[in-house]
Amino acid sequence: MTSSVLELQAADTMSDQLRHRREVLAEREQVQAAKNALLRWNEARTVVRRRLDELADEIQRIEDDSAKLDQHRDRLQAQLKTVIAPREAEALQHEIATLTTQRSQFDDAELAALEEHSRLDGELDELLAQEESLTAEYLGAESALAEAESDIDGELARIAERLKGLRSEVDKPVLRRYDRLRKNFVIAAAPLSGSRCEGCHLDLSAAELDEIRDTGAKNDGIAECPQCGRLLIV
Ligand SMILES: [Zn+2]
Repeated sequence: MTSSVLELQAADTMSDQLRHRREVLAEREQVQAAKNALLRWNEARTVVRRRLDELADEIQRIEDDSAKLDQHRDRLQAQLKTVIAPREAEALQHEIATLTTQRSQFDDAELAALEEHSRLDGELDELLAQEESLTAEYLGAESALAEAESDIDGELARIAERLKGLRSEVDKPVLRRYDRLRKNFVIAAAPLSGSRCEGCHLDLSAAELDEIRDTGAKNDGIAECPQCGRLLIV
């Protein structure tokens, strides 16, 4: 009987440790890291694609404006040939010169947009080339985690089975006390080691020890630590 309570405690402790190990698996962090890398990659791709679309629109707009400007300038140049009054000719020439300057500004702007577009196109190609390895890394990390979890789950299932058997061997009132104590303590049942409770690690007085041994003798070796209230196995 006394060994059953301690065995029950040992199995519960092992189960606690396994659950903790499951929580803090290095594989879980690797999955998170791979997932973050994939999210950052996706964000970068979205930003580059959005900018490429903006640039394509911008280039189209500049080309449309340039074509309109060219038409306007052609009209003015044709008009210039028919004008006789010098002042009118001068005004037209001035307007044509202004349009030519503007046209050259359009060309500069288009060239800058084309250069940025070409650079980002290269960046997008580089990003797209990373997709496969980033995805493979994420999936690999996920399956490594699943494998590690399933190993622990297998152990937990074996311990759960063992716990069922151990619990059936312990007296119901003792089991109820054990379960109540387990709500507050990781260790609910501890052995008496010399004059020390292995639950709270406090030394007990000679009088306390006498009482514990007396109780233990009447209760299948099960007493209670007067310091911490745990089941004390003598
Ligand atoms: Zn104690």
